[in-house]
Amino acid sequence: AEELLRRSDKIEAAAQLASSIAHEIRNPLAAIKWSLQTLQLEGDENRKQVDLILSEIDRIDGIVGDFLMLAKPGDSAVQMGDIRTLLASTVQLMQIHARKQGVRIVMDFADPLPSVRMAESQMKQVFINLIKNAIEAMPGGGQITVHAEPLEPGRVRVRVVDQGPGIPEDQLARLGEPFFTTKEKGTGLGLMISDKIVKQHGGTLSIQSQVGKGTTVEVVLPAAGGSTSSAS
Ligand code: ADP
Ligand code: MG
Repeated sequence: AEELLRRSDKIEAAAQLASSIAHEIRNPLAAIKWSLQTLQLEGDENRKQVDLILSEIDRIDGIVGDFLMLAKPGDSAVQMGDIRTLLASTVQLMQIHARKQGVRIVMDFADPLPSVRMAESQMKQVFINLIKNAIEAMPGGGQITVHAEPLEPGRVRVRVVDQGPGIPEDQLARLGEPFFTTKEKGTGLGLMISDKIVKQHGGTLSIQSQVGKGTTVEVVLPAAGGSTSSAS
């Protein structure tokens, strides 16, 4: 037990260090971005290069942001909350992003839904990640359906269903591996972070996908009214 403790102390220390480094990277990055943007305004012939640098800066910023989330996932106060409200506000948040791409997000929530013991900002991050992936999977538009329903005994199931291209078998096995991405601007951290948060809530995250049909990501969480499987 002692060895375990010492190890988790080390992990905690590494996480602290990682998050302070991430913060330190973000400041100069913001300054570089800002001065490049002023350069860009002057409309010189180097526009293409400036655009490229800016988009690479965004990529670094994305990686650092995801990494920060992993090291220090923010407010972790756990309390009874309404998953319905949380999902609805997350969908609303993502709606602008979706519409730009011709993606429609439909909500299909059972009524009533049991309450869930959760750290709300973390749980929101999970569904932001999943909906973002679904939107990114449909560059030509389509529909995302977010289902939520009670699952006996004392559990809630949320599914994010898209009509994207699906995930080939060999890639499916690699999902959640850090930095595994098939996107030019991906970080490959979203699923890993989401899985970590869901597990910390005593739940499970699983992915079903059919090439040519679409992908379903399922999150099952312990809910009020069930056996008290504590969120560790
Ligand atoms: P990122 O989005 O930065 O690539 P993620 O961890 O969120 O990182 O996702 C990892 C990879 O999983 C993606 O690059 C993509 O290949 C695949 N993926 C995740 N969600 C979907 C989805 N809904 N449809 C198709 N592929 C997906
Ligand atoms: Mg992602």
